[in-house]
Amino acid sequence: MSLAHDGLPPLREIVATYGLDPKKSLGQNFLFDLNLTGRIARAAGPLTGVAIIEIGPGPGGLTRALLSEGAAKVIAVERDERCLAALADIASRWPGRLDIIPGDALALDFADLATRAEGAPLRICANLPYNIATPLLARWLEAEPWPPFFDRLILMFQREVALRIVATPSERADYGRLGVLAGWRCRSRILFDVPAAAFTPPPKVTSSVVELIPRRAPDPCDRILLTAATQAAFGQRRKMLRQSLKPLAATLGVKAGALLAAAGIEPTRRAEEIDVAGFVALARAAQNLRGPH
Ligand code: SAM
Repeated sequence: MSLAHDGLPPLREIVATYGLDPKKSLGQNFLFDLNLTGRIARAAGPLTGVAIIEIGPGPGGLTRALLSEGAAKVIAVERDERCLAALADIASRWPGRLDIIPGDALALDFADLATRAEGAPLRICANLPYNIATPLLARWLEAEPWPPFFDRLILMFQREVALRIVATPSERADYGRLGVLAGWRCRSRILFDVPAAAFTPPPKVTSSVVELIPRRAPDPCDRILLTAATQAAFGQRRKMLRQSLKPLAATLGVKAGALLAAAGIEPTRRAEEIDVAGFVALARAAQNLRGPH
């Protein structure tokens, strides 16, 4: 049996040994190429002294790369019980450096999980299951307190989602709630694309690895009101803001025009023309008009 450079069997062999037929319902598109998983791990590095939370290690391709690249600890959350034995083999190869957490990442208390890093800088690195990628990212971007428990996110998304994360008003079709939230709290960029053929089974679309680095001090505003403003504005993105913000303004007891005037935004603008600073101004204006609560 030929072993990979980390002394463990090749991933295809592990998948065959443990019968890990990919399940669509769990978003299982595995990476078997250790050069590629190494590239993703290096994008999260240097990793010496760093702890990583990985969501969905599956048979462990990225996990192995993160450990080989020197991560002090990988805290890996996997929902598919079939993968746990394969992950236990990796844990034996790297004693004390792989914590396997069985379960649903969406049901986790991440602040609690972060205590496993024992004070080491913490990063999140994952080839995310596509069906929960956006809700997971939203949860990390909405973390309180801010700056959050992680110092960087290195995540694989479908390219279409990656474009929405990094979008600005100049990329109108992609720009929306996710772009505002990501742009408010992080600096983000697409690092590289990964073709569908790199996965087993291949998904229908190209994927992209995205880096998000938390801003130390995002423009202060109430996160709930920022979300309310982007939800209202992009929920009716073709309409002028004086129309789409009517319901939000009504909850504050004012006209949409007054809310927009307080934020310094022309009432005839549409959501996709307003940059992050504009939405922050709207959230602040809403907060002032609402008064202390
Ligand atoms: N990291 C592996 C790789 O790159 O080859 C697998 C990535 S695969 C795209 C997504 C992984 O997430 C699968 O192993 C799947 O079982 C796991 N997963 C799916 N839903 C999950 C959830 N709610 N919580 C934790 N893991 C989940």
